[in-house]
Order: sequence, then C-alpha cells, then structure tokens
Amino acid sequence: LNYEYCDQFVQDFEDVVKKPIVSKSSVYYTGVDLGTACVVLAVLDENYKPVAGAYRYADVVRDGMVVDYIGAIKIVRELKQELEEKLGTELIYGAAAIPPGTDDLDSGAVKNVVQAAGFEITNLLDEPTAANKVLKIQNGAVVDIGGGTTGISILKNGEVVYIADEPTGGTHFSLVVSGAYKMSFQEAEIYKRDSKNHKELLPVLKPVIEKIASIINQHIKGHDVKEISLVGGTCCLTGIEEIIEKKTGIFTHKPQNPMFITPLGIALSC
Ligand code: ATP
Repeated sequence: LNYEYCDQFVQDFEDVVKKPIVSKSSVYYTGVDLGTACVVLAVLDENYKPVAGAYRYADVVRDGMVVDYIGAIKIVRELKQELEEKLGTELIYGAAAIPPGTDDLDSGAVKNVVQAAGFEITNLLDEPTAANKVLKIQNGAVVDIGGGTTGISILKNGEVVYIADEPTGGTHFSLVVSGAYKMSFQEAEIYKRDSKNHKELLPVLKPVIEKIASIINQHIKGHDVKEISLVGGTCCLTGIEEIIEKKTGIFTHKPQNPMFITPLGIALSC
C-alpha cells in the first residue's frame, strides 16, 4: 500500500495554497469542491502539478445540496478572482463533484454554481471517484466523513462498486462537544475544529467515532476491503484514524489533509 504520490501531491498543494507558483502553463485546470463546511478551489497546471489553491469556510451547501445558491456563486467567484490575481491569468476550465446518488436536480445546481462563477465546466463526477484519482486505491474503501453524513464507497480494481451514505457525521461530533462542554453548537463547532483541542476531545468523541466505525463494518462486510482511506472535514480530527483502524481491523490511511483529497481529484479530472 503506497501513498507516496498522494502524500506528495497534497503536500505540494498545501505549499501552493500558501504561496502560488506563477508558471507559464498554457492551460490551467481548476477543481471546485462545494463542501458543507468548506468551499475549496484547487488549480493544476498543464502537467497536472498544483500551482494554487484557496478555500473558505462557508454554509452554502448541506449534504451535497446547494442551500444558498447566490452565496455559493459569490464564494466560488471570489475565490476564482483571488487566484486569478495571484496567478496573473484567467481560470477557464473547471470541474466539480457531487456525492454519489445525488439526483439530477442537485447535480444541476452544483453545475450551475460553477458555471455562474465563470468557469467552463469540463467534468462533473462523483466524489469518491474524484478522491480515488489521488488515493489510487485498487481494492478498498474511501470513507468520507463530512458534516451531516458519512459516505462509504467500496472500490474493486480501482472502480467504485458500492456506495452508501449514513446520517452520522461531524455535526454529531459538535453536538456531543456542545453537550459535554455546555457550549452552543456554533462554539462547539469552532472548538472542535481547533487542532489544539483534539487530544482532549478524542476520549469525549470516541463513542461517536466507534459508531461510525461500526457503520463502516456493516457496509464493508462481504467485500474484499484491504485498506480504508479517510477523507472529508471530520477526518481532520487528530487520532480518528487509530480508533477506526482498531475497530475495523483494517489498515486505515489518513492523508495529511483529508479536506484536500476530493478537490485535487476533481482538478485531475478536469
Ligand atoms: P456532508 O455533505 O456529509 O455534510 P461535506 O463533505 O460537504 O459533508 P466537509 O466539508 O468534508 O463536508 O466536512 C464538514 C465537517 O468537517 C464539519 O462537521 C466540520 O466541523 C468538520 N471539520 C472541518 N474541519 C475540521 C477540523 N479541523 N477538525 C475537526 N472537524 C473538522
């Protein structure tokens, strides 16, 4: 199991988010990821190397559904402009992703947001397929722990063969923190995202992580899953991977920044 490419790719992207590379590329490919907590834009050059990226915490999408259409367009447009100024070029081609099983109406909304922000849309694919462009799993599972839900996608010979979406995710983590620390949901959400608090929070969140692990177990039963890769905002929680690995008994890989896997995969599919 070799994640060298994935780790290096994410590291390169993290570097260019901080400091873009102004290259002489003839074409740029942009991946647009409209997440529940975060909108991410990842820009690659003609050789599919990361050159720039930007993200913003936002509340415009929930579980793959665009809930604030105008707000979503505004954010994507602003991030696009910010990157264009840094790169000194116009970003033309964009791709986006939708959670597997999203109906036509919702996938249409995602497409319209990306187009209305000024991109020529070149591809609209499902999130696990996008993530696997970076992860390159042959026989395993991509577990995407987002805000409202956990998506489990099983891959066989590199193709998605099974998908499931269960209504447990980061929102439940925030509710647990809110209850345990007598904080409002919003305060708990911010407290939870701060990595300085993760060590202290892990034992508090262990039961809900174990619940997610048992959901994973139910879905992967009967499939030949040799590895699990964790993506999605909730997987940023330090130590989540160890609890999941222990409970599933399956090698569990957490990329350096689980929030960047899907946007980078989308950009690769552009
Ligand atoms: P879904 O569609 O399932 O709601 P999504 O894939 O759109 O989710 P993401 O943006 O991947 O959602 O993840 C959102 C969740 O990640 C939120 O619950 C948020 O609190 C959590 N999250 C984001 N950053 C961190 C962090 N640093 N530590 C812990 N949790 C985090």
